[in-house]
Amino acid sequence: MLYCMTNIIGKVSDLLKRKDQKASFLARQWLLLNTPLSKIIELYLYDNEGHIQNLEKFQMMRPIYDQIPRRLLLKCSRKTLKSTLLSNIITLNMVRYNHYKMLYVAPQELSTKYFSNNYLNVRFESPPLKKILHGFIKNDVFEKILNATNSSVILRYCKEDASRIRGPATDHNIHDEIQDILFDVLPIIKETMALSPFKREIFAGTPLTTDNTINVLWKTSNQLEWAMKCESCNHWNTLTEDNEPLKMVQKEGLSCSKCAGLLDSSKGIWVEFNPQKEEDRDLVGFHLAQPILTHFNQDPKEWKEIYKKVTNTNYNIGQIYNEVFGLAYDV
Ligand SMILES: [Zn+2]
Repeated sequence: MLYCMTNIIGKVSDLLKRKDQKASFLARQWLLLNTPLSKIIELYLYDNEGHIQNLEKFQMMRPIYDQIPRRLLLKCSRKTLKSTLLSNIITLNMVRYNHYKMLYVAPQELSTKYFSNNYLNVRFESPPLKKILHGFIKNDVFEKILNATNSSVILRYCKEDASRIRGPATDHNIHDEIQDILFDVLPIIKETMALSPFKREIFAGTPLTTDNTINVLWKTSNQLEWAMKCESCNHWNTLTEDNEPLKMVQKEGLSCSKCAGLLDSSKGIWVEFNPQKEEDRDLVGFHLAQPILTHFNQDPKEWKEIYKKVTNTNYNIGQIYNEVFGLAYDV
């Protein structure tokens, strides 16, 4: 480890001695490649409210950022900052890698434009990042190519017909709102990576019914759930159907489904619900939901909103499962 750090510092100081713009970017790129992604986010990227991002209350996201698997599935409730997460990864991949080609796909033109304008643009406009970049070769709603690295992202939309996706050669495909993309078009989209040595994929969305695209993918993944041990009765709680998630949302806060004791979600750990041998693991799936994120359950105003949604009769049980818990539900 020490040898490794000495090596990096040596390489970086050699580059800085050259004192030109290209060398100073290369030095920074070296540092970025050797720093955990979660730390880079907290140093360089702003959120949509114009503040530098802080993952202190999103503990469960650090392991996702720091060990992004080749194929990643994010099964999310609403309001889990999924779009921020995807835009963070795309932005930093464009900065850290050279000639790296990504494709972002959402089901509709409107959602693709919204992601491009309201998330991706905001990340690139983050002042600490903007300061180290030297502009774009191309920068519009549907394509961005970074000057310093020649890395790019193209943004497309596809629901049932993949004809708009054919053509570009890519290394990393990011599928957003996957619940609204037909399962059968996924292999066609994947063809864009046929020649790539990387072939990386991200799938993200909110569950609907159990036969929906996101749930079909989830079933094949290793199904990582955030497990929280109750300090009163030692029961391990996860926001899963078998743990009676409705019981976990009490007026006082996130609670143990067995004894109603309050849970501290900052002390959770990721546990595989579909354990697979490393050589068989093809898709790594994480379940993220608003009630188990400290950012929401430690804020009384946010918690009141969650409690209201779960107890309010305006929401049916299917909507509560899908949108609040991020779980599939068959009506
Ligand atoms: Zn308990």
